[in-house]
Amino acid sequence: MYQKVDTNLNFVDREKKVEEFWKENHIFEKSMENRKEGETYTFYDGPPTANGKPHIGHVLTRVIKDMIPRYRTMKGYMVPRKAGWDTHGLPVELEVEKKLGLDGKEQIEEYGMEPFIKQCKESVWKYKGMWEDFSSTVGFWADMEHPYVTYYDDYIESEWWALKEIWNKKLLYKGFKIVPYCPRCGTPLSAQEVSQGYKTVKERSAVVRFKVIGEDAYFLAWTTTPWTLPSNVALCVNPDETYCKVKAADGYTYYMAEALLDKVLGKFAKEEGEKAYEVLETYKGTDLEYKEYEPLFACAGEAAAKQKKKAHFVTCDTYVTMSDGTGIVHIAPAFGEDDSRIGRNYDLPFVQFVDGQGNLTKETPYAGVFVKKADPMVLTDLDKEGKLFDAPKFEHEYPHCWRCDTPLIYYARESWFIKMTAVKDDLIRNNNTINWIPESIGKGRFGDWLENVQDWGISVTVTGEHH
Ligand SMILES: [Zn+2]
Repeated sequence: MYQKVDTNLNFVDREKKVEEFWKENHIFEKSMENRKEGETYTFYDGPPTANGKPHIGHVLTRVIKDMIPRYRTMKGYMVPRKAGWDTHGLPVELEVEKKLGLDGKEQIEEYGMEPFIKQCKESVWKYKGMWEDFSSTVGFWADMEHPYVTYYDDYIESEWWALKEIWNKKLLYKGFKIVPYCPRCGTPLSAQEVSQGYKTVKERSAVVRFKVIGEDAYFLAWTTTPWTLPSNVALCVNPDETYCKVKAADGYTYYMAEALLDKVLGKFAKEEGEKAYEVLETYKGTDLEYKEYEPLFACAGEAAAKQKKKAHFVTCDTYVTMSDGTGIVHIAPAFGEDDSRIGRNYDLPFVQFVDGQGNLTKETPYAGVFVKKADPMVLTDLDKEGKLFDAPKFEHEYPHCWRCDTPLIYYARESWFIKMTAVKDDLIRNNNTINWIPESIGKGRFGDWLENVQDWGISVTVTGEHH
């Protein structure tokens, strides 16, 4: 039917009229009712959090999420659209803490868990009405009367069911997660807390000689945290970079990155024209993988043997850069996120010779010494044994506890993981069957992410995450 369009048309007005028409005549409900016999196409909304206001970005996602179900409806499918609400998470708790004037886990417990949870459950509906109005205004259809809600028992039970299935498939395991940790307060800190306490510090780093097994040669590796050296179980090189075996003017033979030779060994050229080193051979990083060296500290060798795990060899990972050090990094899986990941990838032993108070343990020669106080002792001992190449002063930004000013350490805590690496091939195969638009997102960004998929740490750290 032809209808003349007024040149002074008010679009908002017209949209409101359509919105009213849809509401009064139950058009969404009818879109399903009229297609009862049709094939079902199910849509579950990725749930927003209703204790925050909708913003302009949500318009885009709601419109895109409406388009595909609407297309299916037009093709004759019966399309139930289930709305959902995400009611869990730290933002909810933080909001309620603020409202009640509470600060942290202890005060919440004093207030009482039950009433606190009740407050959280109320808080999550704060902007529900605004979300419903907004969804309707942008023409987003969904069954808002029967939403799924993540705090409902049936929802939580289905999550437990999923976890049990994962467990049955032997894909759930207990491992370690690295957290920023204050050894004085005895608690992990959230990313936001860590960001509050950065300070510039000048410390001694260490360039260490690791003796290659079966060769009169050494790997040169650099670390800014000498106290982690007693827990060393591997070295790491960048698989794509070039490495050299060189005879240096100090009489030793070293393995290190080609790009850093002059920076590290250049000091041996005392006079003009004198050669600081002679390159004997060059390698790709991958050529060095699994090359073995002698444990730097006997305690780490003993721990590896006890755990019946292979250790003290060269690993490969692209996180190693050529900007500092020697291009070879020392790996202690208990004390760094990258280290921990490499530890999992290579099934390295887990060696954590530091206790919850930040003191080195009795297995090491520094029993009871605080990590930062152990640094100079480690350097002195390595020097005595001829294992210390250099201990250059190093200035960097280092996080400190915002409560007590203690330097934080990166420290492994027990955590549950889902073994995503075991299903990587399935993930990639499934991704390849998806009709991504634009294609570059599925093949590029998401595809790359799947190629590098890591095991998924699902434990929530409760203590100290509350500020
Ligand atoms: Zn502290």
